[in-house]
Amino acid sequence: MSNLQLPVIGIYVHVPFCAAICNYCNFNRGLFDASLKARYVEALVRDIQETGAGRREPGGGRADTIYFGGGTPSLLEPDEIARIVRTCEAAFDLARDREVTLEANPDSIDESRLRAYRDAGVNRLSVGVQSFRDDELRRLSRLHDAERAAGAITEARRAGFDNISLDLMMWLPEQRVSQWLESVDAAVAIGPDHVSLYLLELYPNAPLKDEMARARWSQAPDDDAATMYLEAMERFEAAGYQQYEISNVARPGRRSRHNLKYWTDGEWNGFGCGAHSTRCGVRYKNVSSTEEYVRRIEHGQPTSCEVRPMTPAERLGEALFTGLRLSDGVDLGVFEDRYGVDVWERFGADLRPFVDAGCLLHEGRTLRLTRPGMLVANEVMAVFV
Ligand code: SF4
Repeated sequence: MSNLQLPVIGIYVHVPFCAAICNYCNFNRGLFDASLKARYVEALVRDIQETGAGRREPGGGRADTIYFGGGTPSLLEPDEIARIVRTCEAAFDLARDREVTLEANPDSIDESRLRAYRDAGVNRLSVGVQSFRDDELRRLSRLHDAERAAGAITEARRAGFDNISLDLMMWLPEQRVSQWLESVDAAVAIGPDHVSLYLLELYPNAPLKDEMARARWSQAPDDDAATMYLEAMERFEAAGYQQYEISNVARPGRRSRHNLKYWTDGEWNGFGCGAHSTRCGVRYKNVSSTEEYVRRIEHGQPTSCEVRPMTPAERLGEALFTGLRLSDGVDLGVFEDRYGVDVWERFGADLRPFVDAGCLLHEGRTLRLTRPGMLVANEVMAVFV
């Protein structure tokens, strides 16, 4: 196969360190530890070099995005980020117009640090704002307040970032619709290029659950959560953003190129503890423990704890499942070409009730969720898995 036929992949780099652990967080992260961080960066560099050289699975190739996710990647020093970016450049055939995203928390950045990240090659910043209300941020045990969040975005602009995303969370404890919309309006006023909107999910052992019980904090009724979502989307659209995915809006030309790989049946290499890779229909998952990941690299051992070739049916199901998250939906013709399956013939009987209920549109070769359908997306997508 010629190089041109191979997909252009994304590179994900996981940074599992945080300055404090938030009471709702279920990500793969731990408290910052300077000596472990130094060993971790060495391990990442070695992993990327060896993978690019084909000495580790799943091997290198052409890439056009790098995404530093976490945890809190802005706890890595700019020179460490620069070193990892340079290592990716040497190990992969990296596009000149690459997108390089760094997730950052407002409390761990300032203007000079942001300039240094830009010099390191970062050209997109994703800021974990979550809320523009201090009472809500305190309930979430976040380290920043609303003023620091707004300050971080202003500093990022001054540092030269023209592609800034921020995360907001809705359906927070004690949050009412009007309070949520204050954060939406504050975000619109600050004018980022991209916004991700998440619903707070309380996992079973989240410390926040106990705190809510003790303090008698409640979440608004389900109907209000739906109103929060729908009203937020309308306000962002009125301000010139386009919703392009269930949880994401962007200004024209500012969609996340990296995340689009996850939603468009793309391929990516994940580096670091707990990171996943998907290459040529095989799913790899790295060991979750930071120590174990570093130890394995130091001893020249494989980092994956799971290597799973996916069956064609699984690949199709997953591609439909993720593709339907996009506002444009999926092109059934593309699926027929790629998987040799008439999607409507196979799934149409199960999907028909959602079409009749106005949750799903089936127009020509396109299948897509309506906005009310996005509220029940999990039920629709369950048809594919
Ligand atoms: S900063 Fe992010 S990754 Fe770290 S504990 Fe808080 S929510 Fe989790």
